[in-house]
Parts: sequence; structure tokens; C-alpha cells
Amino acid sequence: MENRVACREMRKIDLTNFQVATSETARDINRRIVLNLIRSHQPISRADLARHSGLQRSTVSVIAEPLIKKRWITEGADGHTLRGRRPRFLHLNKERVGVIGINIRPATTTLALADLDANFVAQESLPTAPNPKQFMEDLAPRLRNLIRMRPEITCEGIGVSLPGRVDLVSQRLVFAPNLGWSDFDLKTPIEEATGLPVEMENAANSCALAEIWFGQHAEGVRNLVAVTVSEGIGCGLILNHQLVQGSNGMAGEFGHTTIVEDGLECRCGNKGCWEVYASNSAAVRYYSQSASPVRSGKATSRSVGQALTFDHLLRLTEQSDPKAVEAINQMARYLGAGLAQLVTGLAPDVIVVIGEITRIWNQVGPLINETVKSHSFTRANTRIVPKDPSSQPRLRGTIALVLQKHFGAPSVA
Ligand SMILES: [Zn+2]
Repeated sequence: MENRVACREMRKIDLTNFQVATSETARDINRRIVLNLIRSHQPISRADLARHSGLQRSTVSVIAEPLIKKRWITEGADGHTLRGRRPRFLHLNKERVGVIGINIRPATTTLALADLDANFVAQESLPTAPNPKQFMEDLAPRLRNLIRMRPEITCEGIGVSLPGRVDLVSQRLVFAPNLGWSDFDLKTPIEEATGLPVEMENAANSCALAEIWFGQHAEGVRNLVAVTVSEGIGCGLILNHQLVQGSNGMAGEFGHTTIVEDGLECRCGNKGCWEVYASNSAAVRYYSQSASPVRSGKATSRSVGQALTFDHLLRLTEQSDPKAVEAINQMARYLGAGLAQLVTGLAPDVIVVIGEITRIWNQVGPLINETVKSHSFTRANTRIVPKDPSSQPRLRGTIALVLQKHFGAPSVA
């Protein structure tokens, strides 16, 4: 309630994209409210749904019936009352409704079948092919197989998370420097292979949505930034409950803002980008340079550090190898410097950090927080929270993409 009081309506009605309120609009909004109330209060009776929503009981029933028919929700066991008619409890049809998630990363792609709470019931991985055409040939039979394996589950859609950007209008993949793919339509061949609707989104954006739908701070957080730290750095921004897309769907590319003037060359073509100094690849480069200073010569972000993986570097750090520790600390300082810009510029409630680096958060966390503090004068109360990698945040993000479509707030005016 306090949140509601603190929130002032500051949004202008968009006269180029609005919908006048028809009874259809009202039904859609009420349907989504009922679905969300069932999701958060299940099992729940129709009478309690009416109480929580303020809708008439008859309206609740009118909304619930088609949801039961379409298997989104189901009627469970009878509730207990001392006298009178026993209410039938409603809950989400978790076991029957499924979502397929595809998490594409430069080396490995993971696909999974999940229920509506993003619990994975099946999961497998495949190497990510160097070109998207070959990738589709590898992926299609596995997808069909995944759907066939669990015939009792009705798949509602497929969410795809990418280390890149999808054009808002054409839905083509237009920018994926760490994948090395460019301008390719992935959506249509996946839809044709499966007959299911596909939602594609940048990995950081999907992770931000996953936090809103499945995260610990799911309720009440208005401003959240998800920062994915891996081969590159991505940022998904949720401001005032809304995913920020920008004019071309490419908002959030803080990884490619300059942090070192005239710095090392980045895969995007610019120099000195944040991700060149604060990503996993950066830490590997720092280590390689310190381990063999003669070899580094005229270094670019790409030319050194191929021999060691980031995973190996983390293990060396855990064993207190001094060069590894210094390389990781260098990465952490740059990570902190960039996060400070996010804190200063956006003052989010929370920044969630996603990536392998969170495995050693007890070591890097204090350094990151210290750097953020000394670099941001606004003293925003932003919490910087590491995401446990075992919860598979990127894969959960793919499930959030489909859930968002059915449970998310409609934009009406
Ligand atoms: Zn760049």
C-alpha cells in the first residue's frame, strides 16, 4: 500500500499508440489480474478471488471458466468449511502448462522445458554452431524431441534469450558481436519447426524480467537493473515497472559505453568499452598479461588470453594464486566503476549481478561495493545483489518472456 501512495502518475497518454477502453479491454485486464492473484495466492477459492480483486463473484466465474478450459488453471480439492457448501480451490495448472526456454550463449546453448514457476522438468545442452543456419539445423530436431517427450504438457510458447539484440519491428537478430552472427531471422524457423509462438529477447532483459517474476524481490520493486557479466556485459533495465527498450530496442548497452578514453579495441568497433575492462574476457586478459608480460605486445581485447578459461581463473583465485587474485580484483574495480554510473544515473532500487563472478562474491563483493560508493555521489540506496548461478537465471529469463506475455500488465493508454 505504501508503494501505491508513494507512486505519482507521471506517464503521458501516448496518442500514437493507445486503445480506448472497450469491454474487451476491461475483460483482458481483469483476466490478467485474476491470473496473477491465482498465481500469488493459490490455492484460492472463487469467493476469495472476488474479495481480493473487488470483482463480482459471477465475473470471477466468467473469467475462470475459459482459463480452466484452456488448461491455464485447474480446480483442486475441496476446501474446508465448517458448514455450507465447500469451495473448490483454483490453482495454476503447473504440471499441464509448459514453456520451452532456449538460452543461447557463444559456446553452449541450453534448452529446457519448464512449468509456470520456471521449474525445469527437462533440460539439455548443445554446442552453439558458428553460424545461425547450422545452429537451426542442430536445434530443430532437439526441440521437436523435447515437445514429444512430455505429451501430457501443453506448451504455451518458446522464450529465447540471446547475447545480442533483436530488431523491434522485424524481430531479426541484428547485433550479437560475442556470437559473431548478424542480421538473421531465428524466430520464423523456430516457429515453423515447432508450431509454437516464439518470444526473443536480449539476455540481460530476460534476466531482468525473471527477477520481476521469480526473484526474491519480485513484489514491490519498481526500478531494477540486471547486469549480465560474461564474455561481454549486458544491462536489462526495468524502470517504473516497465522494461526499457529504447527507440530501436537496444537500450541498456552500457557494456559498450566508453570507460577508458582511447582504450583497447572492442568487438563493437569502438575503443575502451566497459565490457573490454570488466567482463570475464577482461580478467582472463589481465591474468595472461601478468603471467607473460613479454607476450602481450600490441594487445587488442581479442588477441590475448585464449589459453585460460574464466572458470580456471576463478579456481586459481579460490586457491589464492596472487596473479589470479589481482586479475579478478582489476575486473572487480572496473565492474564497480561501471555500476557506479548506473547507480548515479538511474538510482535503481536494486542491481542484480548475473554471471560466474558471483561464485566468488565474498571476495569481489566488498571491492565492488567500495568502488561504487566512492564513484557515486548521489548515495542512492541501491542494493547490489549477486544472483546465485545455480538458479540458472538466464534460462529462467526465457520462461519469464513467455509468462510476461500472458500475465504481464497490458499497455492500454
Ligand atoms: Zn564495445
